[in-house]
Amino acid sequence: MCEKYPSFVHATLGLHPVYAAELTDEELEAYLNLIRRNRSEIVGIGETGLDYHWISDSIRIEKMKKVFIDLLQLARELNLPVVLHLRNAIDEGLDMVMKNKMREVVFHCFNGTMRQSEEITRNNYYVSIATNILRSENIQNVVSKVPLQRIVTETDSPYLGPHRKRNAPQNVSLVVDKLAELQGLSPTEVDEITSQNARRFFNIGSQNSFKTSAP
Ligand SMILES: [Zn+2]
Repeated sequence: MCEKYPSFVHATLGLHPVYAAELTDEELEAYLNLIRRNRSEIVGIGETGLDYHWISDSIRIEKMKKVFIDLLQLARELNLPVVLHLRNAIDEGLDMVMKNKMREVVFHCFNGTMRQSEEITRNNYYVSIATNILRSENIQNVVSKVPLQRIVTETDSPYLGPHRKRNAPQNVSLVVDKLAELQGLSPTEVDEITSQNARRFFNIGSQNSFKTSAP
């Protein structure tokens, strides 16, 4: 898809924390090398992070943390931004990216508190808002106060679909519309600024808006 739509579809490579816990050290090393070999084809490292919803035993937790740190270090080595998946782990993940002196970080599917959003934006990191904003009053309250310059949008397809149906990337327009309503701006302004944010974050050159240029 990246080859077919080079200015529109971009890839990141990472290791979801739920699967990270399953790899042997050899498999992990081989995978990190695969990412290194594909450095020029990708725009970021992710998803990576911590998931205490699915991972609860201490051995797998230790492995998940080790993989997370390895991927943060790889992102620094390759000078790539990081997409974080943190479930029941926002404070710990924030602490780890700060300790590892990460510069470009987005908190994917953000659903945290006002205090967490403030700490994230104070560090010049980004929150990524998905379609669950449509049904979460907490996300709506928090996001209404987050500077638009620190927000990007997503859908997390095929999950988090509106009306609990299968989600699809074009539903990102629903997120843009909701953000516009919460921030008192037009959908076009929100689309432009969040698209610019994503291009700046992933260092993507295209001038087109993600939403309005969908093929
Ligand atoms: Zn995720």
